[in-house]
Amino acid sequence: MARRRMIYEGKAKILYEGPEPGTIVQYFKDDATAFNAEKKATIEGKGVLNNRLSEHFMTGLNAIGVPTHFIKRLNMREQLVRAVEIIPLEVVVRNIAAGSMSKRLGIEEGTPLPRPIVEFYYKDDSLGDPLVTDEHILAFQWASHQDLDDMVALALRVNDFMSGMMMAVGIKLIDFKIEIGRVFEGDYQRLIVADEISPDSCRLWDIETGQKLDKDVFRHDIGDLADAYTEVATRLGVMPKKSVSGTGPKLVQ
Ligand code: UDP
Repeated sequence: MARRRMIYEGKAKILYEGPEPGTIVQYFKDDATAFNAEKKATIEGKGVLNNRLSEHFMTGLNAIGVPTHFIKRLNMREQLVRAVEIIPLEVVVRNIAAGSMSKRLGIEEGTPLPRPIVEFYYKDDSLGDPLVTDEHILAFQWASHQDLDDMVALALRVNDFMSGMMMAVGIKLIDFKIEIGRVFEGDYQRLIVADEISPDSCRLWDIETGQKLDKDVFRHDIGDLADAYTEVATRLGVMPKKSVSGTGPKLVQ
């Protein structure tokens, strides 16, 4: 496919104009960032893994009637998605206390929460994506009452689906972040899951050992990130082992 006009370059992905109006090509880079991009690295194979994993999760969600932007994977690093108007909120669902919630509320990492908790963060890197409440969202018109209800419902359905899929391969879904976009269909608008779902935006712990299989491996330098993501992909049957880790046959020049 001929290279198309770039629309946006983010920390882990590049968006290009799609082949038809209303479509976008999402390219997954190998770049990893953490702590609001204070820590950066290139991790060979990460983009390939996240492209495949996001495809796997989004295809499954589409199949159970949770609408997503995913149309099809194009190649190792690119997928075709529907263009959406992104709501400027990061929607986080938590099952077990970790990360910023543990710090903010003084709850020990690993403590199960009484029920899944949905939080909203305002998407603004210069502010460090601050936690916001429904009041802020409504007053600043980032989303309506109806949107808020729909976002919580979508996020909880994604949580149920992802928790079940992970549980089946011995992984606990601690928390995750999704982004949600608006699509317009005639006179109607509806909300669909957009961006990506991958170990970059989830916390995934091995049920038996508690081993971290997500971006915390990079955040806290506790192992090889590509190996952790390959483990998730292999357990889910998405990728054969070692296919992206660079240990396969080498091209002889
Ligand atoms: N998360 C994300 N992007 C962000 C912030 C958080 O994907 O900009 C994900 C993160 O990987 C975790 C969940 O959202 O799975 C909750 O993150 P938390 O608020 O604990 O923040 P962190 O500890 O990552 O700073």
